[in-house]
Amino acid sequence: MKAIELQEYDHPLVVVDRPPPVAGNGGHLIDVTACGVCHSDIHVVDGQFSSPLPLVPGHEVTGVHQALGPVMLYAPWGCRNCWICDTGHEMICPDAAEAGLFVDGGYAEQMSVPHLEYLQPLGDLDPVRSAPLACGGLTAFRATRQAAEVLHRRGSKARALVIGAGGLGQFGIQFLRLTSDAEVWVVDQSPQKREKALELGADRAVGPGELDGTFDAIVDFVGAEPTLESAAQHVSRRGIVVVVGLYGGQVPFGVGAVPPEAQFMSSFWGTVAELGELIRFAHTHSLEYTVETMPLAEAEQAHQKLRSGLVTGRIVLVT
Ligand SMILES: [Zn+2]
Ligand SMILES: [Zn+2]
Repeated sequence: MKAIELQEYDHPLVVVDRPPPVAGNGGHLIDVTACGVCHSDIHVVDGQFSSPLPLVPGHEVTGVHQALGPVMLYAPWGCRNCWICDTGHEMICPDAAEAGLFVDGGYAEQMSVPHLEYLQPLGDLDPVRSAPLACGGLTAFRATRQAAEVLHRRGSKARALVIGAGGLGQFGIQFLRLTSDAEVWVVDQSPQKREKALELGADRAVGPGELDGTFDAIVDFVGAEPTLESAAQHVSRRGIVVVVGLYGGQVPFGVGAVPPEAQFMSSFWGTVAELGELIRFAHTHSLEYTVETMPLAEAEQAHQKLRSGLVTGRIVLVT
């Protein structure tokens, strides 16, 4: 089968011919239909995860399983042997074995999957268009759900703020709008992204420094020092700040440093159950995002395009 290998960090991806994968003990095979290209894939190539090499990247995978039919892959595999995995939070397992990061992923014609529950039936969703939901969509879905309880408490008076209207932020705006009664504000320094945010249903889209008042829930899809500072300034008493962005910013935390009883939390990817819920959600709500397809063999070109910053939607590789 054709596959894409990362053979050396910081080197171009290589198209190779490999023997088809073998389904391990109790494992399963899927024929890959599509695989989204995510920013984490760039970090895999750069060696930031110290992935074992050679590695087949790719964690936004849809495919076909012999018995289940069209499926979406749950890629953040855990050890399935610790209390975190026992409670369904495999994506934050300390002994994680994420597909496409630590074991072979979906930049290939076939893929081996260790457990059937990692394959969520896709129903009649378009397998190419829906591939980015597996990571980008799921990460935003979980992040906005972390805020749901606080927003529901305030009902129609709730105010939510999305920081950063890039790919994940655009999912976040839609999830907040479709699942809560909150007034949704967006802050982004790019006028184009602010315009996009308004198209997606945000009530207000402003530049940094133009925020007004406090917000019950703030989802920071940037995570840099200035965005966290602004979140700490604008979160309401008993409000919540959910940080998703990987810019590595920090902010002082403690009684007196943040508004009384404000919560700050990070949010990572999502659970198997949430992936199933997201697939059901996508059946009943039309989510707006653009997908650009490229052939699997052009994975390296896709990575270069993503690095160039010239991509407005999500790139999906098709077999
Ligand atoms: Zn990803
Ligand atoms: Zn575990």
